[in-house]
Amino acid sequence: MTTEHTHLIGGKHVKGTSGRFSDVFNPATGEVHGKCPLASAEEVRHAIEVAKAAQPGWAAFNQQRRARVMMEFVRLLHRDMDKLAEAISREHGKTFPDAQGDVQRGLEVAEFCIATPHLLKGEYSDSVSPGMDMFSMRQPIGVAAGITPFNFPAMIPMWKFCPALSCGNAFILKPSERDPSAPLMLAEMMIEAGLPEGVLNVVNGDKVAVDAILDDTDIGAVGFVGSTPIAHYVYSRGTAAGKRVQCFGGAKNHMIVMPDADMGQTVDALIGSAYGAAGERCMAVAVAVPVGDDTADRLIDKLAPRVENLKIGPYTAGNDVDFGPLVTRAAYDRIRGLVDSGVEQGARLAVDGRGFSLQGYEGGNFLGGCLFDHVTTDMEIYKEEIFGPVLCTVRAKTYEEAVGLAVDNEYGNGTAIFTRDGDTARDFITRINVGMVGVNVPIPVPLAYHTFGGWKASHFGDLNQHGPDAFRFYTRTKTVTVRWPSGVKEGSQFSFPVME
Ligand code: NAD
Repeated sequence: MTTEHTHLIGGKHVKGTSGRFSDVFNPATGEVHGKCPLASAEEVRHAIEVAKAAQPGWAAFNQQRRARVMMEFVRLLHRDMDKLAEAISREHGKTFPDAQGDVQRGLEVAEFCIATPHLLKGEYSDSVSPGMDMFSMRQPIGVAAGITPFNFPAMIPMWKFCPALSCGNAFILKPSERDPSAPLMLAEMMIEAGLPEGVLNVVNGDKVAVDAILDDTDIGAVGFVGSTPIAHYVYSRGTAAGKRVQCFGGAKNHMIVMPDADMGQTVDALIGSAYGAAGERCMAVAVAVPVGDDTADRLIDKLAPRVENLKIGPYTAGNDVDFGPLVTRAAYDRIRGLVDSGVEQGARLAVDGRGFSLQGYEGGNFLGGCLFDHVTTDMEIYKEEIFGPVLCTVRAKTYEEAVGLAVDNEYGNGTAIFTRDGDTARDFITRINVGMVGVNVPIPVPLAYHTFGGWKASHFGDLNQHGPDAFRFYTRTKTVTVRWPSGVKEGSQFSFPVME
């Protein structure tokens, strides 16, 4: 059965009217099981008008009442965790426990947003001059928008709309057209939690909807997450239209393995961080950089059998599956083509997952884990973000060469070093030009009360996602200077006062 998905505007599910749809697949079988409507510019405009009308009433709620809506939303997330996770696994292909993690990492940001009244407290200076006081307050932007990727269909929408709504904004969410169910369910749950209708609207779509959001003068802020070329495009077009824009892009995360690293722990860490979620994570480790040939040989010897024995299957096969299929056939073909190019360009494919197939799921987008050794920086597999279950090993002769690789890479999302030496780790932390750094932690994703964001081509704009930065991004500062009659001096003043 094929589900026709909707938009959610003004608190109601509305059918798409553009006549354009994109297919939603079951990645495990390749079958189409849904149609996602692709909004026209007129449909986007309608949603923005609804949001604009609803925003002042929401902003006028006292802050604690807004926080209570978020509190109730958190309760509903716990209630519906498994329903959401099932919808994510069905459309994305990730395992059920991993889909629960997707919800959990969004839920934690919703929890942090319960403290919004505290986070929005302004600054106050009394007696800046006789009888004169000054204070700064943070006010909502008005209508904000979020444009989100396929790989975390619950977590990233929540990273966007939870802080934006908590600050008193209305919100337009344009989720990925690949897995539309979870974002729609989240919006329904926000309304069930007490959010007035029209404050959070979900508009499904593609470039047409994105462009309509970027050009609309009633949208004041846009938060984007996706691939680097689109991130750059969204940032350029949105800022040219006078908006506040933050865009988080792609990645090529390097993990440096020092000769003194505990090899057992290192291999455990690498296998989960490179192959979990079929490598479809912006914080996945994509490049292992062992220092010295002896370290590299030990690493590959231990890692190869683990990669060969990864358990790959549909989410319905049980919670001990390591990873599932890639999201679409197009993603599979692209990644397989990259693996072929790696072999052609002379890397050694220590584990070849290209022949993997699963009885009963021959139409699914399953690619077995691939492990490359002797990768060099001129190869496509090194230069491109693969976003699949493929780990590249680049052998470095020295620590300096290893650090240089990560420093020179165009991306700067995440990185890690595995070592037992504190001095080396400290030097790495200080010098590396990457936004999120792990020491013996392969996927250093910051918790909700810290901020998440990369450097270099992984991030356009300033301020990070969630943590205190989100409350700065989704508000504007207003600074007020107050003088009461007792402080008012006689006469007029025509020039700025100077020190006497
Ligand atoms: P994508 O760039 O294809 O799509 C992201 C969003 O942009 C979607 O909503 C999509 O509909 C829209 N879009 C796609 N093409 C567009 C176009 N031509 N014009 C305007 N909008 C367009 O990314 P994806 O494949 O959904 O997600 C995977 C990418 O996201 C990877 O590169 C990954 O590294 C990145 N990612 C980054 C982070 C981070 O925080 N840095 C987090 C998760 C994912």
